[in-house]
Amino acid sequence: MAHDLFPVPDSWAKAAWIDNATYLRMYEQSISDPEGFWGEQAGCLDWFRPWTKVREGAFEGDVRISWFCGGKLNVSYNCLDRHLAGRGDAIALIWEGDDPAESRSFSYRRLFEEVCRFANVLKSLGLRRGDRVTIYLPMIPELAVAMLACTRIGVVHSIVFGGFSADSLAERIRDCQGRVLITADEGLRGGQRIPAKENADKAVEKCPVVERVIVVRHTGGDVPWTPGRDLSWSELMENASADCPPEVMDAEDPLFILYTSGSTGKPKGVLHTTGGYLVFSALTHRHIFDYHDGDIYWCTADIGWVTGHSYIIYGPLANGATTVMFEGVPHYPDWSRFWNIVDKHGISILYTAPTAIRALMRQGDEPVRKTSRRSLRLLGTVGEPINPEAWLWYYNVVGEKRCPIVDTWWQTETGGILLSPLPGAMALKPGSALRPYFGVKPAIVDAAGNFLEGPGDGNLVITEPWPAMLRTIYGDHSRFLQTYFSLYKGAYFTGDGARRDEDGDYWITGRVDDVINVSGHRLGTAEVESALVAHPAVAEAAVVGFPHEIKGQGIYAYVTLKADRSPAEPLREELLRWVRKEIGAIAVPDVLQWAPGLPKTRSGKIMRRILRKIAANSLDDLGDTSTLAEPAVVEELIRNRPAAA
Ligand code: ATP
Ligand code: MG
Repeated sequence: MAHDLFPVPDSWAKAAWIDNATYLRMYEQSISDPEGFWGEQAGCLDWFRPWTKVREGAFEGDVRISWFCGGKLNVSYNCLDRHLAGRGDAIALIWEGDDPAESRSFSYRRLFEEVCRFANVLKSLGLRRGDRVTIYLPMIPELAVAMLACTRIGVVHSIVFGGFSADSLAERIRDCQGRVLITADEGLRGGQRIPAKENADKAVEKCPVVERVIVVRHTGGDVPWTPGRDLSWSELMENASADCPPEVMDAEDPLFILYTSGSTGKPKGVLHTTGGYLVFSALTHRHIFDYHDGDIYWCTADIGWVTGHSYIIYGPLANGATTVMFEGVPHYPDWSRFWNIVDKHGISILYTAPTAIRALMRQGDEPVRKTSRRSLRLLGTVGEPINPEAWLWYYNVVGEKRCPIVDTWWQTETGGILLSPLPGAMALKPGSALRPYFGVKPAIVDAAGNFLEGPGDGNLVITEPWPAMLRTIYGDHSRFLQTYFSLYKGAYFTGDGARRDEDGDYWITGRVDDVINVSGHRLGTAEVESALVAHPAVAEAAVVGFPHEIKGQGIYAYVTLKADRSPAEPLREELLRWVRKEIGAIAVPDVLQWAPGLPKTRSGKIMRRILRKIAANSLDDLGDTSTLAEPAVVEELIRNRPAAA
């Protein structure tokens, strides 16, 4: 497919933190002299004591990586205290409730006081540095307060997305042995109540390690209460002092544990540490979103995912930014909600996911067009490859051709963005994550195991440590070594496929397991999906391989139509012809199944491993389905599997 190029507007190149010349110079320095580069950049934080060595360890042997060795700092101090003198009254956090009538703003000073109080609450329960606490909260301000309070006293948080079931929560509590659980009575999403406390109770039954459950009163709903074990957030806060000096932490002290989405299998407990993570999340946030004073920044992710950790809380607050947190969903009370929020708060930078963009696009342009969106100046996306069609819609309709899009590729494990355009420095290509961020050294390895020099296609690896990388899988260093460092010598294996084009720009082709081999040709699922989504009738598509007698692997496509279209045989044939025209005969699906919905993780990623099982008709063993958002979607697809397949 040919791709348009969207050059950097002059106004952007002039006003952005990083223009093209600066990118090239800084990138070169970051690779040729990483210690010099990061030593200088780490000055973006306040350190209680400087480090003695910038970086230690390599991708060999036991892979024990350290950054800013011996340096001492505190995350909450960097996110709060140091802003008080200059911008204590500036807004740190804007909370937008599920109900459009509800929003609240917190100044840096107010947030600081709440965090200190809650840190004292945690201390009063006997928690000390190194202890683990599980947070199972809806997207309410107390979630931000709780995580920052943990960092203030060196407690390691493990945040579990509020949409997870009791079993998934229990599994995660057991894995990291969290002694305290923080939850709410209920969550609210799209006007529906989510039984947070009820789920928490069921989970705790299976987790004797939990001594205390702290409960935020959010909806005021009537929930069960276990005296002695359950404690009320507001009562604890009333009696707590707002004076809590920050604990002096080592740069390599654990900061948080977070479980991956489970797109490819059982979730991994990714462990991040303090110094490198905060330096990297702060700098990437500033440079990639080009954050300046006066911007209002909104990342729509849930804080239960790494995107919310790094780019709702830690990166933005370390930069003294105004960050927006949204409790609800894009379609409530109607499909204009996102854009109404943009107008209500004057949002200038919006960061969301392809799954949301495709869902919004499916509803047509009208819900967008009837809003202003004049305040927007930059758009971002993360989570899955973005189909060029969805990219163009985001660019033309949402951003009215005025706002660059940063397509940011990264993972729970990477802690921060590794590949992305820098909006003042690079011409954009719809569907490409373009270039590595400073200090990131990507490489592509072909099927024969060769590290490619120029353009080419293969597995994406990273060959040098970067500050925010995971240090281990909690409690299972051998799984860490096995998962990321066993396939290629001396490189971190991402599990994703990528192509580097003639200009040196990167395109994520999908997960490595999802690459299909048809009659000896390597096809990325992302490419076939993008061709399908480019058809005006198609809202979303997922493509997987299945065993095929002649070709080795055949192509199986699941297609969701736009809201105003319905399945029909002529349309099916038209779509097959369309793929032939867009890519070629090799990419034409052997089977095309209409899918009213696609199985997704709770973070909105298409779960192709389940679709592969359905395509191969191996229905007895669907693997770990605990992170599936809507199990009914899978049953429906199994029921309606075409007879010919
Ligand atoms: P698990 O590792 O448990 O299977 P997961 O990989 O879905 O789950 P995350 O860490 O949340 O868990 O997701 C990271 C993955 O998301 C990346 O490896 C990549 O496949 C995909 N991804 C993220 N951003 C992008 C992007 N901009 N373009 C393409 N793919 C992306
Ligand atoms: Mg992964």
